[in-house]
Amino acid sequence: MAKTVEEKNASHKRSMEKQKTKVDAKIEEASTERGILLLLTGNGKGKSSSGFGMVMRALGYQQKVGVVQFIKGVQLSGEELFIRDKHPEVDFYQMGTGFTWDTQDRTSDIEAAERTWKEAARMLADETINLVLLDEMTYMLAYKYLDEEIILSALKHRPYEQSVVVTGRGGGSKLIELADTVSEVKEVKHCFKAGVKARKGVDF
Ligand code: ATP
Ligand code: MG
Repeated sequence: MAKTVEEKNASHKRSMEKQKTKVDAKIEEASTERGILLLLTGNGKGKSSSGFGMVMRALGYQQKVGVVQFIKGVQLSGEELFIRDKHPEVDFYQMGTGFTWDTQDRTSDIEAAERTWKEAARMLADETINLVLLDEMTYMLAYKYLDEEIILSALKHRPYEQSVVVTGRGGGSKLIELADTVSEVKEVKHCFKAGVKARKGVDF
């Protein structure tokens, strides 16, 4: 016989109570207060926008934020406009013109990567910065434009309270191992494949 609404509600309540007990226990268990290293990777859309979501959160608490973008710069993005215009206090650095898919000039790419890494390293050594977003940094590792050991060491030895978000596909097993939280954004669908153009405010 089908369940009545009252029965469904009661069963839902029981299941929610059970869940709450579990979650509360986990919250109780979590006792460490420190900055975390997050890696947002995978082929689906949502890595950088998630990183910028955390930037927004941190700014909401007047925390100090640093952002380094390792690829973009050829095209202006909404996040850059927003930060430059509304949050000039954000320590913002973009690799800019030094790196494009078109040039394929390894030497100048490496120079640009190193110049950009200097800014990231400075932020990773600054204990006044609460959150650092290293957007698209994984590609610098994937192409071996930057030295993996140097990067991992800087990430590892950052200030205790500082959180860092790294975005981009790949990144390597050592970065995954070092990171506290790793999320892989899986592509289930992407409108690009149906011929829909990248949209202002959605994609850039
Ligand atoms: P977003 O910045 O939208 O969060 P992302 O950081 O996850 O995307 P990137 O590879 O950095 O992914 O994306 C750069 C651009 O490519 C964005 O405009 C994004 O919408 C688009 N994009 C992301 N994933 C795909 C995909 N699977 N196919 C085609 N375009 C994609
Ligand atoms: Mg991205």
